[in-house]
Amino acid sequence: ELGKDNYIFYLPIKSIEEYKGQRTFMLEMDLRNALSRNEFCMYFQPRVDVFTNKIVGAEALIRWNHKEWGLVSPQEFIPLAEETGLIIEIGNWVVRNVCEQLRSWLENRHQVVPISINISPKNLLKKDWGKYVTEIIKTNKLDPTLLEFEITESTLMQNEHIVRNTLNIIKDLGIKLSLDDFGTGFSSITYLKQYQFHTIKIDRSFIKNIVLDPQDSVITNAIIELAHGLNMKVVAEGVETEEQFILLNQLKCDEIQGFYFSKPVCLEEFEMLLLRDRLEPIKID
Ligand code: C2E
Ligand code: MG
Ligand code: MG
Ligand code: MG
Repeated sequence: ELGKDNYIFYLPIKSIEEYKGQRTFMLEMDLRNALSRNEFCMYFQPRVDVFTNKIVGAEALIRWNHKEWGLVSPQEFIPLAEETGLIIEIGNWVVRNVCEQLRSWLENRHQVVPISINISPKNLLKKDWGKYVTEIIKTNKLDPTLLEFEITESTLMQNEHIVRNTLNIIKDLGIKLSLDDFGTGFSSITYLKQYQFHTIKIDRSFIKNIVLDPQDSVITNAIIELAHGLNMKVVAEGVETEEQFILLNQLKCDEIQGFYFSKPVCLEEFEMLLLRDRLEPIKID
């Protein structure tokens, strides 16, 4: 009996690691077919003006609806897509999807705001990617200022001339660039000068303790002043509480993106949000 029990308890513990490995392996296999099976969709998270509470933009965030596992987080599958190179096709799909969505809103005279898209370094390393983007903008007859591309410092740190070239093509087109997750990497001032970003997004990990930790609020204040001095807008990511919101308002942060106003929502819900004049905070008690 004892041996049997041990066996039953022992096996699941051993198989947790196996399970993780198997899941990664299976996700990687399935990722190859996810595009052709139409399993991706875009969610949108509003960017809200701190002073008017109006939606002034949104970030497009990919979701993978897996037939067996349900919704798989981009935090789990984007790294896999990067490793396997599948990110190139997925990234192209995201850009096309967002551009077609913008076209559709314009055609239907729906309310529309600029949309930001996360761009992987792998896409920027493709020699013809600037052309690809140019074509899509033309096909959909879009005002390029309706698009913003979010990149992270690690993308710039590769210091590849192809990346720089592609970014310049994109900027010359009129697409805005933003520096994502600022505060997590080297937070280099050099890059701020080199690329003239339109927007700088302060990472959630930094906003988290802003109310409790005076150091975090002092540094946030300095980032905001620096950004404004260089003519950039500042977005605070991951704002969840009223206290954070009030403090960021005092620090003259421009925009808020976080659960305080809205989680990322599906297309239908986002279209309803766009029809509102201004957003009310979501009160959690
Ligand atoms: P990110 O670009 O920094 O996106 C912001 C992430 O923070 C999103 O996670 C969003 O849901 C989450 N977030 C926003 N506000 C709050 C908040 O108040 N509290 C908390 N706890 N979280 C908040 P998500 O959608 O899971 O995406 C994770 C990351 O995956 C993104 O980080 C981005 O790096 C990557 N990603 C998402 N979509 C794409 C895509 O289309 N292409 C690429 N290349 N990467 C993507
Ligand atoms: Mg982002
Ligand atoms: Mg971010
Ligand atoms: Mg992030």
